[in-house]
Amino acid sequence: MFQSTPVTGRQDTEGVTPLPCPIIPLKGGANRSQFLMNDAPSAPLATALRAVYREMAARGLNVGASGNVSVRCGDGFLITPSGLPPERCAAADMVALTMAGERVAADADADSLAPSSEWRIHRDIYENTPEAGAVIHAHSPFATALACQRRDIPPFHYMIARFGGDSVRCAAYATFGTAALSTNALAALVRRNACLLANHGMIACGRDLEHALAQAIELETLCEQYWRTCQMGSPVLLSADEMGEVLERFRTYGRPKEGASAATYCIW
Ligand SMILES: [Zn+2]
Repeated sequence: MFQSTPVTGRQDTEGVTPLPCPIIPLKGGANRSQFLMNDAPSAPLATALRAVYREMAARGLNVGASGNVSVRCGDGFLITPSGLPPERCAAADMVALTMAGERVAADADADSLAPSSEWRIHRDIYENTPEAGAVIHAHSPFATALACQRRDIPPFHYMIARFGGDSVRCAAYATFGTAALSTNALAALVRRNACLLANHGMIACGRDLEHALAQAIELETLCEQYWRTCQMGSPVLLSADEMGEVLERFRTYGRPKEGASAATYCIW
C-alpha cells in the first residue's frame, strides 16, 4: 500500500556531511533542511534520537544494529538507519520519513542510508496513536526469549499495568519488515503501549523519547522477572479485581498530562 523510495544506501558514515536539500517537498513547503538539519525543533531531535539509540545498546536492549527507534517530527518522523550500529551513527544519519513512507528530500540519493526495515511499524503506530511521540523496537534478551515462546505476559506483577492493561500481548508472527507484521503489532497494541513480536522482539511506545526508553527498560525488566519466577513454577497471578485497582491508581497517580483523558493517562 505504501512505498518508500528505493534505497541503495551506503555502508558507513565516515566523511559524511549533511545532504543537500530539498527533493521531496513536505506539507506546507518544508524541505529536508527545515525538517531535519537546520530547523530548530528537528535538529535537536536527531541528536536526541541518536543518543537514545546508543543508550539502548548501553542498557543491553540492543546488540549490533538489531533494534531501532524513531521520534515524531513535524508531519513525519525521524528513524534510525538500517544496518548501522549505534556507535557508528551520527545525527545526520537519522532518516526523515513522511507519513506516506516517503523519504524526505535528498535521502533518495545513492549516498544516503536506508531507514530501518521496520519503519512501517513506527509509521503505523504514529498514524493510529496520536499520543505516541516515540517508538522503540528491540531484540532485548528476555523479551525476545518470551516472544519466542509466543507468550503474552500475564499479570504476575502489578507493574504490567504500566503498559495499559492486565497483560502485555505477544503479536502473531509475520516476517520482519512486512506490512503483515505491522498489522499484527497494531492488533497487539490495542489499549496498550507495548507488545512482544512473536519469534522476534518487542515494541515500546512513549510520549517522547525519554518515556519510550523508560518503557522499553521497564518491559525488559519485567520480562526478566517473569522468566525468573517461571523457573520456580507457575507464578501466582493477580486477579482481575486486583489489577483493576492498580489500573485505577495508575490513572490518578502523579500529574495528569494536560488534556489527557482518564482512560489514556495511565499509559501516556
Ligand atoms: Zn526486529
